[in-house]
Amino acid sequence: MPQDNRTNTAVEKVECDGQVNLPHPKVYLHFDANGVVICPYCGKKFQLDYAKTN
Ligand SMILES: [Zn+2]
Repeated sequence: MPQDNRTNTAVEKVECDGQVNLPHPKVYLHFDANGVVICPYCGKKFQLDYAKTN
């Protein structure tokens, strides 16, 4: 039977525009399963606070 095994977590996203160091068009980045995402434009790493479990 069809079943979606993806974790049904809330879609957490962050927006990045490079701020003042490396400006780029604003993009919305979605966190991966580890609560981490790296901006493809400026390389800035974002991490969800609640992902710091261990
Ligand atoms: Zn960025």
